[in-house]
Amino acid sequence: MNSTDWIDVTTEKNHYSLDHFVIPSHYEQDVSSILIPHGVIMDRIQKLARLIVDDTQGPLVVCCILKGGHQYFADLVNEIKKLRRNNGTSVQLSLEFIRVKSYTNDTSGGVHISLTDQELKEFKDKNLLIVEDIIDTGATMVHLLNRLDTYSPKSVRVTSLLVKKTSRSNGYIPHYVGFAIPDAFVVGYALDYNEYFRDLDHICVISVS
Ligand code: 5GP
Repeated sequence: MNSTDWIDVTTEKNHYSLDHFVIPSHYEQDVSSILIPHGVIMDRIQKLARLIVDDTQGPLVVCCILKGGHQYFADLVNEIKKLRRNNGTSVQLSLEFIRVKSYTNDTSGGVHISLTDQELKEFKDKNLLIVEDIIDTGATMVHLLNRLDTYSPKSVRVTSLLVKKTSRSNGYIPHYVGFAIPDAFVVGYALDYNEYFRDLDHICVISVS
């Protein structure tokens, strides 16, 4: 995927006023604008599902990166299943859930993965699709891919709904990207701030107060 293949919402004009959409009242004070309305997210996922199915031969192990990736994962899997029903395409899916934590002291240069060694060994010779919510610096994903590689999967592809345009990026770009977003902290659509906002449908920019 190159940069023309994703939707760029990095400029100020991409922000929608809170007045133009329904926001739960318990969050009205905490977000400053809507960056990506829920309907646009869903429409974009339809297209991403199609791109993924078109590139897939054989069974796919779809790996949800918890917790932030769960909503994108659920909607993406639904869209892939819809494509199967409507187009007769046949991609066999199995679903895996992984909690990934980056070590904050970078010297350890790694991630903690919630799967056991035995469970990770099941990835050998499988086609994996990693489903992530957001790539910021790219450090977590690069560490995760290095770890997964040691279990010899047949292939690994990554989709992230969001990629942040930031000077802190290590240059990692996933195979399938929904949107490029500005260097701001975003919440909603399962992305949280201290566990809040996961239940907000739109992707919003958090207020700085
Ligand atoms: P990276 O290793 O790419 O710098 O960071 C990846 C992780 O940081 C993401 O999986 C996510 O958990 C968290 N993160 C980075 N930027 C944001 C953001 O704008 N909003 C939220 N909610 N989480 C973020």
